[in-house]
Amino acid sequence: MTINTDTSYHGPVVALDLDDTIYKERDFAISGYRAIDTLFADDVLPAMTRALLNGGNPLDAALEASGQPNPPTIPQMLRQYRYHTPHITPSPGAIEFLTTLQKQKIHTALITDGRSVTQRNKIAALGIQQFFSPEMIIISEEIGADKTSPIPFRQLVRLRPEASRFFYIADNPAKDFLYPNLLGWTTIQLRISPELNIHQPDTAPSPDHAPQIRLPDFKSILPVIIHYTQRQ
Ligand SMILES: [Mg+2]
Repeated sequence: MTINTDTSYHGPVVALDLDDTIYKERDFAISGYRAIDTLFADDVLPAMTRALLNGGNPLDAALEASGQPNPPTIPQMLRQYRYHTPHITPSPGAIEFLTTLQKQKIHTALITDGRSVTQRNKIAALGIQQFFSPEMIIISEEIGADKTSPIPFRQLVRLRPEASRFFYIADNPAKDFLYPNLLGWTTIQLRISPELNIHQPDTAPSPDHAPQIRLPDFKSILPVIIHYTQRQ
């Protein structure tokens, strides 16, 4: 892979997670259930949504709710879920935050785990592609490594080796903050209506997994970035 390294950039790099950080993954799930619902002759959406809220398996729920003699198969439903064009919107303040960073010429990145097509469909649906240089969108399937390893984070460091500081803004202490913490980044957990997040609860498995800073909304982030960038 060609690495578009920019050695002339000396400012901070602000990397963000995608799912349950820039938008609510639950909205993607419901959008996916709507897409699955179109495979059925009967309306299975209420059963799938109920399963999501009760911690059940939405695909099993759809099959149970359907009276169809030949319902779609699980692989067909999974394909529909993963590859549909999602109807999702950015969380409050996300676009304003990205716009401000862009105006201030602060370099931004996305570090997200998932399938290439699925994550890129989400990025397109959210209309956020314009805020990131192409090489700064780091998707686990495309690089063959996810956030349970330091690889995606190291890749970003290689792209901006002279950056003054790296930030990672994400939601899930189970996997989002360990490696950026170990690499000396500043980690920020964004907690916008965390009760709506897909991954619960949000306790860190170890102190190294914990975010350094917790913030309730996008508008609280920029002052923190400016503070930490000027402090050194
Ligand atoms: Mg996330």
